[in-house]
Amino acid sequence: MKITFLGTGTSQGIPVIGSTHPVCLSEDEKDKRLRVSVLIEWGNFSYVIDCGPDFRQQMLRANCTKVDGILFTHEHSDHVLGLDDIRPFYFKQGAISIFAHKRVLKSLKKRFDYIFKKKNKYPGAPSVSINKVKNKPFEIGGVQVVPVSGLHFKLQVFGYRFNDFAYLTDMKTVEDKEIDKIKNVKVLVVNALREAPHYSHFNLEEALSFIKKVNPEKAYLTHVSHLLGFHEEVQKKLPKNVFLAFDNLQITI
Ligand SMILES: [Zn+2]
Repeated sequence: MKITFLGTGTSQGIPVIGSTHPVCLSEDEKDKRLRVSVLIEWGNFSYVIDCGPDFRQQMLRANCTKVDGILFTHEHSDHVLGLDDIRPFYFKQGAISIFAHKRVLKSLKKRFDYIFKKKNKYPGAPSVSINKVKNKPFEIGGVQVVPVSGLHFKLQVFGYRFNDFAYLTDMKTVEDKEIDKIKNVKVLVVNALREAPHYSHFNLEEALSFIKKVNPEKAYLTHVSHLLGFHEEVQKKLPKNVFLAFDNLQITI
């Protein structure tokens, strides 16, 4: 299984528009972060988790020629706004499978009503095939996917486990019974916004204590704010099995 980090930034991305913060002005490529998403590839399959406003640029940058489906974590803009840009895939492949909680599907239908329209649909609009995700395992491309539920402030959010890879973002609270689903996984990706506490995201300290509970071989931090600091400096402070993810990073599991 090959994982490509398509984006590792928080909702505004880094650099933030108009910001003069030193991290936003950094020339290190690792300090430039598009909105969070990962590409997961195995056999002939390629799936992405989330489809934010940078989706088009991410697909071009990763040379992605096929997407078998999109799994959504939740409905916030930084995770869904790129849905219209599935059009090139739709024209080649037909309806694109989407996987999401029923509340997320409702929100997508409202924002992208023309995609879900059944009658008098504009010919250039893409189509999707809908898969409702409940908090129960399901299978795609011969791989069992285990949803992991948590809270982003008060909003329910799904993370997903694919075999020995678990991806959780925008988490602030995760119950022990959900953590049990990912204990001792080989690779864990989890959100770490900044050092100061935040009402809806793990800060660095919370992310590190969450990693201790899960006990993965390796963990990668994502959904990072410029306030966390320069990539190079943050990486030096992390435990030896924890890495600050960056855009274009690829790992094989
Ligand atoms: Zn987010």
